[in-house]
Amino acid sequence: MNPTDRPRNCLYRDIERVVVPREEIAARVADLGDRLAREYVGRELTIVAVMTGSLIFLADLVRRLPLRLRLVLIAVCSYPGKSTASQGPRFELPDADWAGQEVLVVDDILDSGQTMAALVEAIRSRGAAGVRTCVLLDKRRNDLPDRREPDYHAFTVDNEFLVGYGLDYDNLYRNLPDICVLRRGEDLP
Ligand code: 5GP
Ligand code: MG
Repeated sequence: MNPTDRPRNCLYRDIERVVVPREEIAARVADLGDRLAREYVGRELTIVAVMTGSLIFLADLVRRLPLRLRLVLIAVCSYPGKSTASQGPRFELPDADWAGQEVLVVDDILDSGQTMAALVEAIRSRGAAGVRTCVLLDKRRNDLPDRREPDYHAFTVDNEFLVGYGLDYDNLYRNLPDICVLRRGEDLP
């Protein structure tokens, strides 16, 4: 945690520890963007970004991509309200023309992999030429050996509930610049 933020940012009162500080996020996201830019050079790309958790990651990532790219934002809800256990992904894909498109699905975290698997399947079935996955955080889930790994990820993290840099608890904490673990308390998970 940047100590100079504490007096300014009341959210840090609820934080137990920083897991990934902002400088590390910036460096890794820039590297990941440069890698994607090389892999998709000369091609058109459609990014399907899962709102709202991927919002800040997406904004940083796309500015590293000097490509012709289209953005499709979709809302997927797995953790309604104060839940910290997934209730299963629910989403609606827009009626765009997916045929022949190269698609990159961008999300904040790959946890059980259910959200990504459902999205990839839905986009493939609409005729996309290729569908790859890109997440900010890949959670270590040794209990799920059949989980499909993401094609691209910035960090691997332990299996604990994280907030910040777009990730929320009850729609709060998305504006924290670092990725953090919440302090446990009456009102917290
Ligand atoms: P999956 O379907 O892979 O189990 O879950 C992925 C979704 O669950 C992510 O899009 C994310 O919204 C949510 N999620 C999983 N782990 C966390 C976490 O530690 N913190 C937050 N804020 N959301 C999480
Ligand atoms: Mg999400």
